[in-house]
Amino acid sequence: MYGRILLCGALMLFWQACSPQPCEAQNTPNKAVSPSAAQQVLPKAVKKAPSPTIRPASAKEPVKALNLTDAQWRKRLTPKQFKILRRKGTERAFSGALLKNKAKGFYQCAGCGNRLFSSTAKFKSGTGWPSFFKSLPGRVKRVPDRSHGMNRTEIVCSRCSGHLGHIFNDGPRPTGERHCVNSSALTFEKSNAP
Ligand SMILES: [Zn+2]
Repeated sequence: MYGRILLCGALMLFWQACSPQPCEAQNTPNKAVSPSAAQQVLPKAVKKAPSPTIRPASAKEPVKALNLTDAQWRKRLTPKQFKILRRKGTERAFSGALLKNKAKGFYQCAGCGNRLFSSTAKFKSGTGWPSFFKSLPGRVKRVPDRSHGMNRTEIVCSRCSGHLGHIFNDGPRPTGERHCVNSSALTFEKSNAP
Protein backbone atom coordinates (compact mmCIF):
# COMPACT_ATOMS: atom_id res chain seq x y z
CA MET A 1 0.00 0.00 0.00
CA TYR A 2 2.67 2.50 1.10
CA GLY A 3 4.80 1.42 -1.82
CA ARG A 4 2.03 2.41 -4.27
CA ILE A 5 1.58 5.86 -2.65
CA LEU A 6 5.31 6.53 -2.82
CA LEU A 7 5.41 5.43 -6.45
CA CYS A 8 2.48 7.74 -7.30
CA GLY A 9 4.21 10.65 -5.52
CA ALA A 10 7.42 10.05 -7.43
CA LEU A 11 5.53 9.91 -10.74
CA MET A 12 3.75 13.20 -9.93
CA LEU A 13 7.06 14.95 -9.23
CA PHE A 14 8.57 13.56 -12.43
CA TRP A 15 5.54 14.77 -14.45
CA GLN A 16 5.77 18.29 -12.96
CA ALA A 17 9.50 18.58 -13.68
CA CYS A 18 9.09 17.52 -17.30
CA SER A 19 5.95 19.48 -18.15
CA PRO A 20 6.47 22.65 -20.25
CA GLN A 21 6.24 26.02 -18.46
CA PRO A 22 3.00 27.60 -19.70
CA CYS A 23 4.00 31.14 -18.72
CA GLU A 24 7.21 31.11 -20.76
CA ALA A 25 5.45 29.53 -23.70
CA GLN A 26 2.87 32.31 -23.70
CA ASN A 27 5.40 35.09 -23.17
CA THR A 28 7.69 34.18 -26.05
CA PRO A 29 5.44 35.51 -28.84
CA ASN A 30 4.85 38.74 -26.87
CA LYS A 31 8.58 39.33 -26.54
CA ALA A 32 8.95 38.92 -30.28
CA VAL A 33 6.19 41.50 -30.91
CA SER A 34 7.35 44.24 -28.52
CA PRO A 35 10.44 45.49 -30.49
CA SER A 36 8.40 46.08 -33.62
CA ALA A 37 5.73 47.85 -31.54
CA ALA A 38 8.46 50.11 -30.10
CA GLN A 39 9.73 50.85 -33.60
CA GLN A 40 6.25 51.93 -34.63
CA VAL A 41 5.95 54.31 -31.66
CA LEU A 42 9.45 55.85 -31.84
CA PRO A 43 9.15 57.98 -34.99
CA LYS A 44 5.96 59.60 -33.62
CA ALA A 45 7.73 60.45 -30.35
CA VAL A 46 10.67 62.00 -32.24
CA LYS A 47 8.34 64.15 -34.32
CA LYS A 48 6.71 65.61 -31.21
CA ALA A 49 10.01 66.54 -29.49
CA PRO A 50 11.33 70.08 -30.05
CA SER A 51 14.46 70.13 -32.12
CA PRO A 52 17.30 70.41 -31.48
CA THR A 53 17.47 69.32 -27.85
CA ILE A 54 19.24 71.89 -25.71
CA ARG A 55 20.59 71.05 -22.30
CA PRO A 56 22.05 73.54 -19.83
CA ALA A 57 25.83 74.00 -19.96
CA SER A 58 27.51 73.28 -16.64
CA ALA A 59 29.67 75.92 -14.95
CA LYS A 60 32.95 74.29 -16.10
CA GLU A 61 31.83 73.55 -19.64
CA PRO A 62 32.96 75.93 -22.41
CA VAL A 63 30.01 77.74 -23.94
CA LYS A 64 29.41 76.88 -27.59
CA ALA A 65 27.38 79.24 -29.76
CA LEU A 66 23.81 78.15 -30.42
CA ASN A 67 22.07 79.37 -33.55
CA LEU A 68 18.39 78.60 -34.16
CA THR A 69 15.96 80.03 -36.69
CA ASP A 70 13.13 82.33 -35.61
CA ALA A 71 10.68 79.48 -36.25
CA GLN A 72 12.63 77.21 -33.89
CA TRP A 73 12.79 79.93 -31.24
CA ARG A 74 9.03 80.53 -31.51
CA LYS A 75 8.47 76.84 -30.75
CA ARG A 76 10.67 76.99 -27.67
CA LEU A 77 9.68 80.34 -26.17
CA THR A 78 6.49 82.02 -25.02
CA PRO A 79 5.48 85.07 -27.14
CA LYS A 80 6.72 87.36 -24.35
CA GLN A 81 10.08 85.57 -24.09
CA PHE A 82 10.46 85.67 -27.88
CA LYS A 83 9.75 89.40 -27.99
CA ILE A 84 12.39 90.12 -25.35
CA LEU A 85 15.11 87.57 -26.17
CA ARG A 86 14.87 87.57 -29.97
CA ARG A 87 13.44 91.06 -30.68
CA LYS A 88 15.25 93.08 -28.00
CA GLY A 89 12.04 93.90 -26.16
CA THR A 90 11.75 95.32 -22.64
CA GLU A 91 9.23 94.20 -20.06
CA ARG A 92 7.32 96.76 -18.03
CA ALA A 93 9.17 97.92 -14.89
CA PHE A 94 8.19 96.09 -11.67
CA SER A 95 6.27 93.46 -13.68
CA GLY A 96 8.85 90.65 -13.74
CA ALA A 97 8.40 87.42 -11.77
CA LEU A 98 12.04 87.31 -10.61
CA LEU A 99 12.39 90.95 -9.53
CA LYS A 100 11.84 90.20 -5.83
CA ASN A 101 13.28 86.69 -5.82
CA LYS A 102 15.72 86.35 -2.92
CA ALA A 103 16.30 82.59 -3.07
CA LYS A 104 19.81 81.17 -3.39
CA GLY A 105 20.64 79.78 -6.81
CA PHE A 106 21.47 80.56 -10.41
CA TYR A 107 19.74 82.67 -13.03
CA GLN A 108 19.81 81.04 -16.46
CA CYS A 109 19.03 82.22 -19.97
CA ALA A 110 15.36 81.40 -20.65
CA GLY A 111 16.30 80.59 -24.24
CA CYS A 112 19.12 78.09 -23.86
CA GLY A 113 19.69 77.35 -20.16
CA ASN A 114 23.10 79.05 -20.06
CA ARG A 115 23.90 79.97 -16.45
CA LEU A 116 24.30 83.74 -16.39
CA PHE A 117 24.17 85.11 -12.86
CA SER A 118 24.56 83.91 -9.28
CA SER A 119 22.03 85.04 -6.67
CA THR A 120 25.02 86.32 -4.67
CA ALA A 121 25.45 89.11 -7.29
CA LYS A 122 21.79 90.22 -7.19
CA PHE A 123 20.95 93.49 -5.51
CA LYS A 124 17.93 95.75 -5.06
CA SER A 125 18.38 98.61 -7.48
CA GLY A 126 14.90 100.14 -7.24
CA THR A 127 14.73 100.35 -11.04
CA GLY A 128 12.03 97.70 -11.44
CA TRP A 129 14.18 95.07 -13.18
CA PRO A 130 16.35 92.30 -11.66
CA SER A 131 19.82 93.75 -11.17
CA PHE A 132 23.21 92.08 -10.77
CA PHE A 133 26.61 93.67 -10.11
CA LYS A 134 28.38 90.96 -12.11
CA SER A 135 27.69 87.99 -14.36
CA LEU A 136 29.26 84.55 -14.20
CA PRO A 137 32.59 84.65 -16.08
CA GLY A 138 32.17 84.58 -19.87
CA ARG A 139 28.39 84.08 -19.80
CA VAL A 140 27.30 87.56 -20.88
CA LYS A 141 28.48 89.50 -23.96
CA ARG A 142 28.41 93.29 -24.27
CA VAL A 143 27.23 94.92 -27.49
CA PRO A 144 27.17 98.69 -28.27
CA ASP A 145 23.55 99.86 -28.65
CA ARG A 146 22.73 103.25 -30.20
CA SER A 147 18.99 102.61 -30.64
CA HIS A 148 16.29 105.07 -29.44
CA GLY A 149 18.78 107.99 -29.64
CA MET A 150 20.75 106.67 -26.67
CA ASN A 151 24.29 105.43 -26.25
CA ARG A 152 23.97 102.25 -24.20
CA THR A 153 25.60 98.86 -23.83
CA GLU A 154 23.34 95.89 -24.49
CA ILE A 155 24.00 92.56 -22.75
CA VAL A 156 23.26 89.28 -24.51
CA CYS A 157 23.60 85.59 -23.63
CA SER A 158 27.04 84.32 -24.71
CA ARG A 159 25.53 81.08 -25.99
CA CYS A 160 22.39 81.99 -27.95
CA SER A 161 22.90 85.79 -28.26
CA GLY A 162 19.46 86.33 -26.69
CA HIS A 163 18.84 89.91 -25.53
CA LEU A 164 18.95 90.16 -21.73
CA GLY A 165 18.95 93.88 -21.04
CA HIS A 166 21.59 96.60 -20.62
CA ILE A 167 24.57 97.32 -18.40
CA PHE A 168 25.11 100.63 -16.59
CA ASN A 169 27.87 102.11 -14.46
CA ASP A 170 25.77 103.00 -11.43
CA GLY A 171 25.96 99.67 -9.59
CA PRO A 172 27.31 98.89 -6.14
CA ARG A 173 30.78 97.69 -5.18
CA PRO A 174 32.88 95.76 -5.95
CA THR A 175 32.27 96.28 -9.70
CA GLY A 176 30.22 99.49 -9.78
CA GLU A 177 28.21 97.91 -12.60
CA ARG A 178 24.50 97.20 -12.88
CA HIS A 179 23.33 94.42 -15.18
CA CYS A 180 19.71 95.45 -15.75
CA VAL A 181 17.95 92.27 -16.91
CA ASN A 182 14.42 91.41 -18.02
CA SER A 183 12.84 88.75 -15.78
CA SER A 184 11.32 87.11 -18.85
CA ALA A 185 14.82 86.51 -20.27
CA LEU A 186 15.68 84.42 -17.20
CA THR A 187 14.78 81.22 -15.46
CA PHE A 188 15.80 80.46 -11.89
CA GLU A 189 17.41 77.30 -10.55
CA LYS A 190 17.58 76.88 -6.76
CA SER A 191 20.97 75.88 -5.39
CA ASN A 192 22.55 75.98 -1.94
CA ALA A 193 25.96 76.85 -3.40
CA PRO A 194 25.37 79.65 -5.92
ZN1 LIG B 1 20.95 81.84 -24.12
